Amino acid sequence: MSVIKVLQYPDPRLRKKGEIVASVDDEIRQIVKTMFDTHYAQENCAALAATQLDFATPKAITVIDYSAKKDSPLCLINPKIIASEGSQIEEEACMSVWPGHIHEKVERAYKVTVQALNEEGEEITFDAQGYFAKCLQHEIDHLHGKLFIDHLSPLKRNRVEKIIQKVRRAYLKKKR
Ligand code: ZN
Repeated sequence: MSVIKVLQYPDPRLRKKGEIVASVDDEIRQIVKTMFDTHYAQENCAALAATQLDFATPKAITVIDYSAKKDSPLCLINPKIIASEGSQIEEEACMSVWPGHIHEKVERAYKVTVQALNEEGEEITFDAQGYFAKCLQHEIDHLHGKLFIDHLSPLKRNRVEKIIQKVRRAYLKKKR
């Protein structure tokens, strides 16, 4: 089992875009394995994108599993949203934005159609709605260097930045 470090905001690497995977080979499958190992090693983790992990060149890959028993892994390579409709405003949090401290309501499409490659390199297209759709939009944002707090109003964003500064300072002090 190999676990890789989850980057924390405001690490500038969170702004990197995931590199498109040209072919799904053993090297990619190894990365996917490391991502799932890391996912299952975290508490209360629903999904992870490669761009929030300490990879030198993160690929456009996300691993998702928000089942209670952690037995429904879904890996998406080069995922993209090809259609969306409706809206939902639900609370979000992120493993890279001080989990346990920051959760805010974000508006997302209620339903999305996603196209991606699976671990076998086959193209898949599927519809998702509600929580699953929210999760996919959050992860695909990550692969474009975007975080859920980027969706907040300037006022809310300001408030969140202040909380992060405080939490981060306490964390760094404890680490010293
Ligand atoms: Zn996230």
